[in-house]
Parts: sequence; structure tokens; C-alpha cells
Amino acid sequence: MLEPGYLEGVKSLDTEGSTMIRKALSLSIAIVALAAAAFALIPSTASASSHTPWSATEVAFRAGGAPRTYSLSCVSPAQMTAAHGGLTTSNTTILGTTFPYERRVLILNSICAEIGKWYWTAEENLTYGTVAALQTVMHEAQHTRGVRTEWLTECRSLEPTLTFLSHNDTDAYQMRQAREYLYHGLEKSRPAAYKLRGRCDHGVVIPAF
Ligand SMILES: [Zn+2]
Repeated sequence: MLEPGYLEGVKSLDTEGSTMIRKALSLSIAIVALAAAAFALIPSTASASSHTPWSATEVAFRAGGAPRTYSLSCVSPAQMTAAHGGLTTSNTTILGTTFPYERRVLILNSICAEIGKWYWTAEENLTYGTVAALQTVMHEAQHTRGVRTEWLTECRSLEPTLTFLSHNDTDAYQMRQAREYLYHGLEKSRPAAYKLRGRCDHGVVIPAF
């Protein structure tokens, strides 16, 4: 019998996922070009770090408040599908799942790799894809803390994402871009049940009058 879990994934990393969130000092074309070259040289094997116990994804997951009693695994798309009994929905990429009864969380390998690439090798190369990947992990971390409603889980995941970025070499200019992206840019990609619809301000639910 398959355990019910929180299944995230209708959204996939959108087309602007690889766009750089530039630091204020990177405004000159020459510096940007250098950064782009460095980014391209990062080997794909960087994702191997996502499988180590102290992977960047795990660091973020714990920083988001996930208790030690929850395990975290970075898995392939096939493993993710298998965890759901082989059920898939067309046009859907499952990015992460929290199984509250088994106290485990699965995150798609590509999400873990995205975070590891930024965290371990080139924090200056923050992208919107990095921010979206971190937010996915922080979303699952909120489920491990008992938050169930999807839009509320989204709301509660945004400030932990920004806090983690600010603790890891993200400058004020990048922070403003990341905040705008999380609260507004991502909104169009959110499935209906996940949309904030103006109900979330700095991670706090705005009361309805
Ligand atoms: Zn969820």
C-alpha cells in the first residue's frame, strides 16, 4: 500500500532557470562574460556531492527546520516514480515528495545538483534555478514541520530560502532579485493549489477581512 505523501512537481524549473542573478559588482560586460565562462566549466560530476551525507541540499534541509528524525535522499526520476508506485502524470516532473508517516523526503537529483553546484563551487554563480531549487527543499522542510496546505507551505518556505541565501554569500542586490522572484516571479509557475494570491507577506499570512 502506497503511503500518501506531499507530492510537488507540477512546476518544473522554468525557462529562466539558468539566468544569472548578478552581483552588483558584476555589471560590467567583461566580468559577466568571465562569470559565464567559469559557470560553463563546472563539471557535471559536481552533482556527486549531492549524495554525500553533508550535501548542500541536506544543509539547506536542516536549516529549513527539518528534524533529524526525517531522512533526506536525492533520487533519480525513476526512483522518484517508483516511490509513487510507478504512477506518473504526463507533462509532470516530480521535484520532491515528503512522506510524513515514513518520515522521509525525496528530492530529485537535478534539484540537489543545482544546489550543490552553487553551494560548493561557485556561490557567485547564483541563478534563478538555484533559488527555485532551494525553495523546493525549503517547501519540503515545512511539510516535515507539519504544515500541510500547499499555498501556506509555499508561503512559509520563502523566508527560510532567503535566509539561507543571505547566510551564503548572497549580496544585497542578489537578495532583492531573489525576493522578487520568490514572491512574484515564481507565482505564475505555481500550480493553483500553491499560488499565494497575495495572501503571503514576508512569510506571514495576511488575514482576510
Ligand atoms: Zn507540498
